[in-house]
Amino acid sequence: MTGQAESLRSAARARARMVERLRSQGVRDEKVLAAMMQVPRHQFVEEGLAYSAYDDTALPIGFQQTISQPFVVARMIELLRSGRELGRTLEVGAGCGYQAAVLGLVASEVYAVERIRPLLDRARANLRPLRLPNVRLKHADGTMGLPEAAPFDTIIVAAAAGSVPQALKEQLAPGGRLMIPVGGGGEQRLLLIERQGNLFKESRLEAVRFVPLLTGTE
Ligand code: SAH
Repeated sequence: MTGQAESLRSAARARARMVERLRSQGVRDEKVLAAMMQVPRHQFVEEGLAYSAYDDTALPIGFQQTISQPFVVARMIELLRSGRELGRTLEVGAGCGYQAAVLGLVASEVYAVERIRPLLDRARANLRPLRLPNVRLKHADGTMGLPEAAPFDTIIVAAAAGSVPQALKEQLAPGGRLMIPVGGGGEQRLLLIERQGNLFKESRLEAVRFVPLLTGTE
């Protein structure tokens, strides 16, 4: 077997172990687990970190940002999906593009925005070999949502906000769901917001740790 074939096999084994761990952590959604089995997470981190790509930790991706922990990616998507399909989905904070790839296998359409241009370029390069025609990336400040593609059935925010940006609530379709970590340096919690007409039903979920949601682009 060639070195390349061997390393592909060992990445697939590491991915299978990651998925087993996600199951033992309580993730039940088979569509999410299948997507996480499929996306080569090691190709989204720097080469020197590839050996820890399937550990259950956040890892640096440069520009003081991190690729989210596998459990958190799986859990957020599972909660957003419960009892329905994700539909047209906005991701705020594409980072290296990993979660956008997982979403691309689970949602009908994905718009992923990132405020740091060089990270967006990296996400684009990382996603290209996966050929996911339903994933579109955009350099933009996601606190304003993405008006040209709104409304969304699902909005998932990968950075922690001080408060929920109004534009994101406004860009939810009827019945749409928004998942966003909220809180400052001390404690952050996932907030799930479901739009019912012009009512917004909020549930506070588990404690998490994300990089901050910032405004503007760079
Ligand atoms: N989902 C990513 C995690 C990236 S970390 C992954 O799978 O790797 C969060 C990202 O949110 C960072 O890249 C950061 O630059 C970005 N971010 C922070 N504030 C933002 C904003 N207002 N609009 C768009 N992206 C933002």
